[in-house]
Amino acid sequence: MASDSPPTIPTSTKPIPAREEDLSNPTTALLSFDTDSPTTSKSPHKPTTATIIFISLVLLTCIALSAAVAFAFLFFSTPQTTLNTSLSSSSSPTSSNDTASRPLKKLNNPVVLLISSDGFRFGYQYKSSLPNINRLISNGTEAELGLIPVFPTLTFPNHYSIVTGLYPSFHGIVNNYFLDPNTGEAFTMGSHEPKWWLGEPLWETVVNHGLKAATYFWPGSEVHKGSWTCPKGFCRNYNESVPFEERVDTVLDYFDLPSDEIPVFMTLYFEDPDHQGHQVGPDDPEITRAVERIDGLIGRLIEGLEKRGVFEDVSIILLGDHGMVGTCDKKLVFLDDLAPWIEIPHDWVQYYTPLLAIRPPKGVDLKDVVAKMNKGLESGKVENGKHLKVYLKEDLPSRLHYADSDRITPIIGLVEEGFKVEEKRTNKKECGGAHGYDNAFFSMRTIFVAHGPQFARGRKIPSFENVQIYNLVTTILNIQGAPNNGSLSFPNSVLLASP
Ligand SMILES: [Zn+2]
Repeated sequence: MASDSPPTIPTSTKPIPAREEDLSNPTTALLSFDTDSPTTSKSPHKPTTATIIFISLVLLTCIALSAAVAFAFLFFSTPQTTLNTSLSSSSSPTSSNDTASRPLKKLNNPVVLLISSDGFRFGYQYKSSLPNINRLISNGTEAELGLIPVFPTLTFPNHYSIVTGLYPSFHGIVNNYFLDPNTGEAFTMGSHEPKWWLGEPLWETVVNHGLKAATYFWPGSEVHKGSWTCPKGFCRNYNESVPFEERVDTVLDYFDLPSDEIPVFMTLYFEDPDHQGHQVGPDDPEITRAVERIDGLIGRLIEGLEKRGVFEDVSIILLGDHGMVGTCDKKLVFLDDLAPWIEIPHDWVQYYTPLLAIRPPKGVDLKDVVAKMNKGLESGKVENGKHLKVYLKEDLPSRLHYADSDRITPIIGLVEEGFKVEEKRTNKKECGGAHGYDNAFFSMRTIFVAHGPQFARGRKIPSFENVQIYNLVTTILNIQGAPNNGSLSFPNSVLLASP
């Protein structure tokens, strides 16, 4: 147990040391009693006859022994109750007896199946009973308070951080939409040219090691990079109309291949519950139904893996890319309201909300733009102005890691949770959901659930940023990864040691 819980990552096994303390106390008490009892049997010796001494000693010994028996009974019976209570609570799912990883039963090599349920906000797992996801949680390792997305908490930047271990400023996908400052070309979610996609995604790392990878949708997976050519049959071109069941069944089919041809790394992607979250916000019953559907798909997957005898062999990592927060039109900031301080032309703005991205033309004093915008926002005369703050990108909080790329616009606005930035007032009225906010907001967190031979059962780990996933996967696969922003010690703090 100690071997899988280094000091940096506390585990759910905390109650176990507590139980050990419970046990040690009575033991010490009994020992001290035993040690003390001879002392109590000591009696003051008087220089009288041997008989008197002998009788006195026998009497005193009897009294001492009676006392010893009585005290022993008291001491022993009380802790016994505590012991029984402690042992009965050890059957809770958060306890874990794992000390070393479990050997593979059927597969020849470790296999990682990385599943993304888009917009699966942390907490959605409590919306319904979700028997299948909960089966993975209770028999696997879970980020107790969720997985922390990278900033901006948007789909493309996060999915690509998960598979490269890089912050967006380093992997290049700094937003779902942005312009190349040198060429003026636009990146969109349909751009598959390798020049946009920096870093080394897991499928490329795997193929570089002479192993097979298979992707059933993932942002960036269709991009030909290095030795990854998005091979037919092992890489799907994105098509949101493919039924989720078909995606699961295709992944299951890979396990019917001859052992040495089974891809060691696979991805599986579902658009839900992000799709519903945008329409109705995170608290609508429609989200509960969407999450239940995802649970059903996980059940279909588990059943298929069990049928093939490989469920316990496969390392399943179930996660999301970001959370979701409710938005309504009353929480709006209009850039047009800043006109008395500064006019922000439409073509300066690359992205409005929740991440405000502004690139004024060359020659414009950037500091002056930021100062005037903030002056207006802080004036108290702009509706909801105090909920938006504008920065030069180099002045953003360093924890956001959002400055080191010329693709990031020089001026960035951060809006408060649930607020939206728009150009001007319109007639459209809507309430829904959004993401893309500061990754410090709890509502932006998603889930991390991992099940497999190297994950302790019923273990809870603290929240961590998704740039750690890359090293986690390469460690499970026992391959050398590319340099990245994750920590090299992270995998050992989460994974069970090799037997
Ligand atoms: Zn998303």
